[in-house]
Amino acid sequence: MAKHEHVRVAVIGSGFGGLGAAVRLRREGITDFVVLERADSVGGTWRDNSYPGCACDVPSHLYSFSFAPNPDWPRTFSGQRHIRAYLEHVTDTFGIRPHLRLGHEVLRMAWDAEALRWEIETSRGGFSADVVVSATGPLSDPRIPDIPGLAGFPGKVFHSARWDHDHDLAGKRVAMIGTGASAIQIVPAIQPEVGRLTLFQRTPPWVMRRMDRAISRPERWLHRAVPATGTARRGLLWGIRELQVGAFTKHPDVLGLVEKLARANLAKAVEDPVLRAKLTPSYRIGCKRILLSSTYYPAVTQPNVEVVAAGLREVRGSTLVGADGTETEADVIVFGTGFHVTDLPIAERVIGADGRSLAESWKNGMAALRGATAAGFPNFLTVIGPNTGLGNSSMILMIESQLNYLADYLRQLDVLGGRAALAARPSAVGAWNRKVQKRMERTVWAGGCESWYLDANGRNTTLWPGTTGEFRRETRQVDLSEYEVIRAPRPTAPAAAVSAAPAAPATPAVSAAPAAEGGAPKDGDAPRTKENAR
Ligand code: NAP
Repeated sequence: MAKHEHVRVAVIGSGFGGLGAAVRLRREGITDFVVLERADSVGGTWRDNSYPGCACDVPSHLYSFSFAPNPDWPRTFSGQRHIRAYLEHVTDTFGIRPHLRLGHEVLRMAWDAEALRWEIETSRGGFSADVVVSATGPLSDPRIPDIPGLAGFPGKVFHSARWDHDHDLAGKRVAMIGTGASAIQIVPAIQPEVGRLTLFQRTPPWVMRRMDRAISRPERWLHRAVPATGTARRGLLWGIRELQVGAFTKHPDVLGLVEKLARANLAKAVEDPVLRAKLTPSYRIGCKRILLSSTYYPAVTQPNVEVVAAGLREVRGSTLVGADGTETEADVIVFGTGFHVTDLPIAERVIGADGRSLAESWKNGMAALRGATAAGFPNFLTVIGPNTGLGNSSMILMIESQLNYLADYLRQLDVLGGRAALAARPSAVGAWNRKVQKRMERTVWAGGCESWYLDANGRNTTLWPGTTGEFRRETRQVDLSEYEVIRAPRPTAPAAAVSAAPAAPATPAVSAAPAAEGGAPKDGDAPRTKENAR
């Protein structure tokens, strides 16, 4: 008989979001859960992206969990290897390994309205769960554009997130497609070894210097000996970014000053006026993600690098044809063309209460209440859901806010007792989404540039148009008036939806997260009100 396991919570994915959810569940006293991971190790995007030069453009002390500070970060901006090792360490430290189900790809999951649970089919057997936490992330499925003739290319082709380390690039003619956050890290890393590097740039990015340096031994010693110094460092990094948010979300004109700095950076790094003109963006800085690198411009000025200021239009044998008609011979094509961000592949596999997939439900654009719950998908929460991304700060802050929401969601289910589920009211999802989209109108991201933040309809369903502090407040607690409570049908009666109780009664005690340490928002820092002080 095929394997079948029932758990209270099934978490999908083991990147920052999934591991964070797993740690939070344990800290809430919940141990009846699994983490379903399609790969054979944890780490999510930090496992998959191992391309040369891969590093984070958010400082290490902010790009880590508040509940798992690392005093030993070796650099101000960490490389992929260290971040991946950090996530392995978190997995061990918080006892997550027994919950991991590696090599389990979720193929399909459907809501069972009778049993009030999700039936989950994976590549290695079935599961059912009262609650599903989808933490598959927006950067998990690579996007390779449909380029005519690509299948006939005789050389090697790979995506930045699927780097082929066995393929030696030394002396080769390499074409890099795209100039996003991944490409600008790859270019300086491979330029010295390749024979020729042709960069297909559809839209030039704004690039600022990255102030990366080794963190000194005395600094590390201090963070180990006096943990409050690490917290203060994190708080400072967070505070600076919170102050910057208004320029992106309310006063894009202020970014003109930043644009001047970026222009000066370009002018200093690139003397050739023709190349500089190619590399100069024509949109307001911040509309697309601002990229940080001190090595990208110096690399593109090297004699073995050529910038084609056009996208890749077609491949004819080993000839790459740009949208401007230029032709380039190549041995290797590297796609740095991003991910399926607004058309998440997992959404095709999630079948809701009315038999429709999440992808169908989101065909006019992703929308979820407080970034977490979608109408028609009871007891299904996303981590890094719609409109929870950031333009200038650490996603870990947003993830921890979503984990607060998840923790309160589970407490509310406990309060309801018996077999019950929560279903986001379409009116609440709609109201939340309208509020978010209204705020979006003033932001720099609505400035008319094409970016991966926008979906096929041109709507920004990716970013949060506010501070991380605001999002933290919005996700402190589940507002039951935004949900319908679904009760399991009695054996003889059909399923019924009843209105949510206005106020939650006291619940049995659950294990509390350690007290927050001040500075940047912390995991579990929801205020202890009468409703949730338990
Ligand atoms: P991306 O930002 O989506 O960039 C994709 C690039 O491919 C863009 O330059 C795009 O041009 C280009 N492109 C697409 N189709 C093309 C074509 N046919 N011809 C030429 N160019 C084409 O993808 P990414 O660089 O992989 O980054 C994705 C996200 O990952 C980032 O924004 C960031 O959030 C994250 N990331 C973070 C870090 C970090 O340090 N934290 C590092 C790497 C990645 P257009 O601009 O014209 O669309």
